[in-house]
Amino acid sequence: MYDVLIAGGGLAGLVNAIQLARAGLQVVLVEKKQYPFHKVCGEYISNEVLPFLHSMGIYPQNLDASTITHLQVSSPSGKRALLAELDLGGFGLSRYVLDEFMYRKAKEKGATFLLGKSVEQVSFRDDYFEVELADGQVLKSKLVIGAFGKRSRLDKQLNRPFINERSPYIGIKYHIQTTFPPHLIALHNFKDGYCGVCAIENNTYNLCYLTTRANLKQYGTIENMESQTLYKNPYMQQIKQNAVFLYDKPEVINEISFAPKQAVENHILMSGDAAGLITPLCGNGMAMAIHSAKILSEQIILYFTGHQNRNQLEYAYARQWQQVFARRLWAGRQIQHLFGSEWLSSMAVMLLQSFTPATRFLMKQTHGKVF
Ligand SMILES: Cc1cc2nc3c(=O)[nH]c(=O)nc-3n(C[C@H](O)[C@H](O)[C@H](O)COP(=O)(O)OP(=O)(O)OC[C@H]3O[C@@H](n4cnc5c(N)ncnc54)[C@H](O)[C@@H]3O)c2cc1C
Repeated sequence: MYDVLIAGGGLAGLVNAIQLARAGLQVVLVEKKQYPFHKVCGEYISNEVLPFLHSMGIYPQNLDASTITHLQVSSPSGKRALLAELDLGGFGLSRYVLDEFMYRKAKEKGATFLLGKSVEQVSFRDDYFEVELADGQVLKSKLVIGAFGKRSRLDKQLNRPFINERSPYIGIKYHIQTTFPPHLIALHNFKDGYCGVCAIENNTYNLCYLTTRANLKQYGTIENMESQTLYKNPYMQQIKQNAVFLYDKPEVINEISFAPKQAVENHILMSGDAAGLITPLCGNGMAMAIHSAKILSEQIILYFTGHQNRNQLEYAYARQWQQVFARRLWAGRQIQHLFGSEWLSSMAVMLLQSFTPATRFLMKQTHGKVF
C-alpha cells in the first residue's frame, strides 16, 4: 500500500513527487513515457515559479535556461507590432531538459517510478484506491493524484464532461536554430492561430503554435498550412528563412480543450492541466501546473499528519484551487478571443500599441503572484 500514487509525470506530477517524497511519504509515480522526451509546449516559464523551484534545489539558470524580459506581438499581416517590457518576465527551458532534471530530483528524494507504463483504471474502494496499469499490474494506495495532463484515457473512464465535447484546437512544436533576440518572447498571429517563439537552452529556440483542425483540413498538410497561413506573417517568414529545424517532423497534439474541469473527481486529486488548462496565449500553464502541485502537496501533508480527513482534504484543495486559479483561467479564455481572427488580432495589437496601461493590465491577468 503506497501513501500516494501519481498518475502522470509532467511538471505537476513531478513537483508532487518531489514534495511528498521529501515529506517522507511512500510515493509511486506512473508515467507512460521514458524520460527524457519532447512535449508540445511553448517552453516559456513565468518567473513567478522561481522562489519555489529554488526551494526544491532547481535553478533553471544552471540548466542553461534563457532569460526573457520582453514581449513582441504582431498582427497576421505583420503591419502592426507591439514591443513591451514584461512586468515579471520569465525564462525559456525545454521540457526535455526540465522534466528529466525534476525526475532525477524526485528519485533522489525517494519517489518510486514506473516508467513506460500507463494507468488504465482507478477505482476507489472505501478508504483506499486500486489502480490498474495497462500491463495488468494492480497497485494500491491511500491517495491518488491525477497529473495526466490535458487529455487522457482516464478522463474517459471518469466520464468528465469536457472529454465528450470535441475541441477544435491543435498544437504543433519545433526546436530550431535561428537568429532571434534571446531576451524576447514573440507571439505572432496568423490566420486562425498564433505562434510563440522564444530562446531555450543551448542556443536553441522553441517555435510552437496553436491553430485549428479546420485550418489543417483546409490546407491538407502541415507544410502547406504553414506556408499558406503561418509564414504569411512576415515576422515568421523572417524567422523561417534563417532557421535550421532540429526535428525530422514536428511534435503534434490534437483536441486541446480549455473547458473548465473539477479539481477533485471520484476522490482523485487533480494536479496541473488535469485540474484545468489555461490558454497557451497566456504562456502560463507550466507555472500553474507547478503551483497547483505545490498547493496540493501541502494539503496532502496536512492529511497524513492527521490535521484533516479525506473529505476535508478534498474540500480544502478544490476551494483553494478555485481561489488561486479560476479567475486567471477565465481571463485567459477571454484574451484568447482576441487572437486567431485576422481582424480582431489586428485591432487588439493596434489598441495595445497605443494604450500602454491596457498592455500592462493584460499582462497582469495572465500570470500569478510570485510563490
Ligand atoms: C500549444 C501549447 C503551448 C503551450 N505553451 C506554454 C508555454 O509557453 N508556457 C507555459 O507555461 N505553458 C504552456 N503550455 C501549457 C503547458 O504545456 C501545460 O500547462 C503543462 O505541460 C502542464 O503540465 P502537466 O504536468 O499538468 O501535464 P503534462 O506536462 O502534459 O504531463 C502529463 C503527463 O501524464 C502522462 N500521462 C497521461 N496519461 C497517462 C496515463 N494514463 N498513465 C500514465 N501517464 C500518463 C503523459 O505522458 C505526460 O507526461 C502550452 C500548451 C499548449 C497546448
